[in-house]
Amino acid sequence: MKERSVTILGGGITGLASAYLLARNGVHVRVVEGSDKFGGLLNTFSVGGGRLEHFYHHFFTHDAEINWLLNELGLQEEVVFRKTSMGVHRDGHAYDFNSPMDVLRFTPMSWVGRARFAATSLYLGLFGDWRSGEDEAALDWFRKYAGKNVTDALWRPMLEIKFGPYHDQVPIAWMMGRLSQRMRSRRSGEELLGYLKGSLQMLLDRLMEDLARRGVEMIAEAPVERIELRDGRMHAVHTPKGTFTDEVFLATMPTIHLAPVLEHAGILELAKDLRRIGYFGAVCGILEMDRPLGQHYWLNVADPGYPFGGVIEQTLFIRPENYGGRHIAYLSRYFAPEEDIANMDEPKLRELFLSGVERLHPGFKRDQVHAFHLFRTRTAATICDLRFSEKVPPCRTSLPGLFLANMAHVYPDERSVNNSIRVAAEAVRTMGHDTAMVPKGRSLSGQIGFGAAT
Ligand SMILES: Cc1cc2nc3c(=O)[nH]c(=O)nc-3n(C[C@H](O)[C@H](O)[C@H](O)COP(=O)(O)OP(=O)(O)OC[C@H]3O[C@@H](n4cnc5c(N)ncnc54)[C@H](O)[C@@H]3O)c2cc1C
Repeated sequence: MKERSVTILGGGITGLASAYLLARNGVHVRVVEGSDKFGGLLNTFSVGGGRLEHFYHHFFTHDAEINWLLNELGLQEEVVFRKTSMGVHRDGHAYDFNSPMDVLRFTPMSWVGRARFAATSLYLGLFGDWRSGEDEAALDWFRKYAGKNVTDALWRPMLEIKFGPYHDQVPIAWMMGRLSQRMRSRRSGEELLGYLKGSLQMLLDRLMEDLARRGVEMIAEAPVERIELRDGRMHAVHTPKGTFTDEVFLATMPTIHLAPVLEHAGILELAKDLRRIGYFGAVCGILEMDRPLGQHYWLNVADPGYPFGGVIEQTLFIRPENYGGRHIAYLSRYFAPEEDIANMDEPKLRELFLSGVERLHPGFKRDQVHAFHLFRTRTAATICDLRFSEKVPPCRTSLPGLFLANMAHVYPDERSVNNSIRVAAEAVRTMGHDTAMVPKGRSLSGQIGFGAAT
């Protein structure tokens, strides 16, 4: 039987997209969000009269699901696709890293290394079968097939900065998803990336307006603190904004926040399964400047000793006029919960990041920075370690009345807005509702944990 009323826990894009699909099917929907704002990781702030994401965001040409949602919401004309430039900072130099010619010019790798890099990357991105790559660490695979020179010059430092203490546990399966995503966004060898004019705030605002029109109840500042069972079924959630009962619940909040609530209610087996999923945090320092920093939209920092692994210059992608003429660069760093940076105070982080920029760009002066912003999250991405597919929980849980849809379901693809929409559609289908209108792009997400419709 299809439920006619659903409460969604967590109002990030997975929760909001699920709400949209359920409401479109005529279901009564309520969304309960823990923070004061809906949107989760897509939230934005004001810069020079424009809006900017707390965490840099772009999408890819092949992202069918987000394109569908933008069309549904009448935002299709607001999407821009642009050629961007990528670089790799290695041995004190920023190398272009956009084309096969750039790979040939990347001297930190030997000639043989460059050929092996190209061959192995193409193989992983075009022909890799992720299921066969779940047991093998990317680092081991690269050492074996790309060689020590390529691994030391590029892959090891990039894995170290992105995954910290887990750099040697990331399966090559994840790398296949990541590389195929990037390769599919190329046309005639050039990578095109997409952005929504006015920022993802436009998507959030339009989605929220649509949900309100469809009668969806939106309750913010309501972190789920306890759940209540009745006759062995999930019956209610308790929040500071009240207790909400329903026929069915769809939890889209990070699993590390759901597990303690389940433990409190004595749902120990499910909580134990969810506790196996760890999360990386991320911190972005954002510089508002009077001039650009470098020449690449996206610079991977592969030299050791930097406090960030990427510099993303937003205004080399979206013009400074959109931000009152300010030039904007994100300094991006992922961290494991046990790393110092997870709990470092803001003045210390700011100092660490600014001294990193001074080292990276010797011409940089602090007085060119008009403002510095810091945003940090502890749930930026799930830690996808070896055989992660075994940790991905079923959407229909062992607790009757509770369904799950979250970032873990995006594996083996890279987590993204597009893939969250795909996962939302799979969850809504598993709950027995029609999702035939959502196109299925070539993303690998939403494959694990979703059974047949009831
Ligand atoms: C640094 C960074 C860069 C990124 N870059 C890109 C990019 O370029 N392109 C792209 O497509 N994607 C990108 N992403 C990924 C994208 O933002 C995420 O995949 C997506 O936003 C995940 O949405 P979600 O709803 O699953 O999770 P979240 O956005 O985390 O939402 C979960 C929600 O649950 C709420 N919640 C938590 N606990 C409770 C509770 N107890 N009760 C109720 N609610 C609760 C939270 O407040 C939050 O609103 C990036 C992410 C980061 C961190």
